[in-house]
Amino acid sequence: GSAPALRPLDASKLTFSRTTAPMTVPELDDPIIKTSSQGTDHMITCKWTDTSGWEAPELRPYGNLSLAPTASVLHYSTECFEGMKLYRGYDGKLRLFRPDANCKRMLISATRISLPAFDPEQLEILIKQLVAIDGEKWLPKSRPGHFLYLRPAMIGSGAGLGVGAPKEATLFVIAIFMPVIGSSPQGMKLLASRENEVRAWLNGTGYAKIGGNYGPTLMANSEAQSRGYDQILWLYGEDARVTEAGASNFFVIWRTREGKLQMITAPLGDKIILDGVTRRSILQLSRERLADGKSGLEAIEVVERNFTMGDVAEAISEGRMVEAFAAGTAYFVCPVSEINFKNQALSIPMAGGESGEYAAMIKQWLVNIMYGKEDHGFGIVV
Ligand code: PMP
Repeated sequence: GSAPALRPLDASKLTFSRTTAPMTVPELDDPIIKTSSQGTDHMITCKWTDTSGWEAPELRPYGNLSLAPTASVLHYSTECFEGMKLYRGYDGKLRLFRPDANCKRMLISATRISLPAFDPEQLEILIKQLVAIDGEKWLPKSRPGHFLYLRPAMIGSGAGLGVGAPKEATLFVIAIFMPVIGSSPQGMKLLASRENEVRAWLNGTGYAKIGGNYGPTLMANSEAQSRGYDQILWLYGEDARVTEAGASNFFVIWRTREGKLQMITAPLGDKIILDGVTRRSILQLSRERLADGKSGLEAIEVVERNFTMGDVAEAISEGRMVEAFAAGTAYFVCPVSEINFKNQALSIPMAGGESGEYAAMIKQWLVNIMYGKEDHGFGIVV
């Protein structure tokens, strides 16, 4: 007869084994927070095999995974992950921000690295199950404005050194206690990557959130930090195209030579940059809210197009640069005050002092949605 069909990921089969040793939520000044290693009481795991498909997912006490030393992920980086947050609103509710977008992106990443497919809606339900169990305790109502960092991930977990698509995979979802981010009030300083430092390339894997894209960037990142910079601004190609800043997308607001105010960010489609959920949301909201001057700020045109360090340097030297900012889940919307390119410090004006006016307004829209000050379809109450 024919082989039985592989079982799909099915959140309704989730089994629950609650911890018998509940943890204590750390105080906000506990140094453990800075290590981003403090998990909440529970995690979700789910195993897949190429013979049976997905097993029943399990909610179980947070703890170590056990892997054979020959596990695929340890040798061939068969791994993908997501980064999202659970927000404690000022209205007392817990919200996710566009979790459907993260789950769909996780499927794209998994597929790219030969990990098994799944229905993104089932992953979203599993994430909601975890936060339903741990959210109230780890994000108490007394701490509005705080968040938990959620990390869904998948690894090739089967034993065997054969260089091939994983025959076994493990999906897991953990919640990490790091309730607030330190902001850099002076604005971020970026060190532009050099020609021999390339994060991603045309038709490569930059668009996927796979671990293999991140390890190789750490060397440049360490150098940037030791020289007093916050992140690397990743450039690409002989024309020094501007792509992303660290693990954030990058935006510039400038006046074109024709006098038009324009927001620009690198386009998707070359498979170089990550389709950031924050990026997408900023583009959509800016197109809706900044196109006509009704926001109180001068209307801007929003474009996704390649631009180069040459364009940036020219805009600065001709006085046309208005603002620049990085945007992503981890560091949110962060104004950029300086870019070091070929050992020249290029200063970016930050219209309102601490932050440019556009970045500040965009940040406020997102904060309002995430923390329940504005009812919007991007904010999902859990
Ligand atoms: N670019 C890269 C390379 C990233 O890792 C991230 C973080 N996921 C982003 C951009 C921002 O994406 P998001 O807004 O979905 O966090």
